[in-house]
Amino acid sequence: MQITKKTLSDIAIAYGVEAEFDSQMFREDELNIGTTDGEQIWLSKFDDMEIMAIAFLHELGHILFQRRFFRRSRSFSKITDEGAAWEVAFMLADELLRPLNAYNNKKLREYAMHCMRSYMIEYNELDDKHE
Ligand SMILES: [Zn+2]
Repeated sequence: MQITKKTLSDIAIAYGVEAEFDSQMFREDELNIGTTDGEQIWLSKFDDMEIMAIAFLHELGHILFQRRFFRRSRSFSKITDEGAAWEVAFMLADELLRPLNAYNNKKLREYAMHCMRSYMIEYNELDDKHE
């Protein structure tokens, strides 16, 4: 199975989520990143389709986690919130994109860990934004 933007777009549709690929919301030099507002997903340009897939599932993970457990974007801490979205991403990958072999895919695990490390540098552990 060849994973394409269409594959990811179909998953977004199945979950009732809007997804924008190669989004203009990012600068030209911003690569391999995604974001969500809890309803829509925006992805920058990616230099690797598998990384794009797991980044997409991570953003979808944020949305599904929020839908399941709370309706607004409140969280105990940014780090645990991000960790939860990564766990959902790998579960979804295992279910929907089996050829990625996500749990055993070193490249994807390293990307996720790289993101987790960057959150730790970027954010304080306690998310006081929503207080
Ligand atoms: Zn995230």
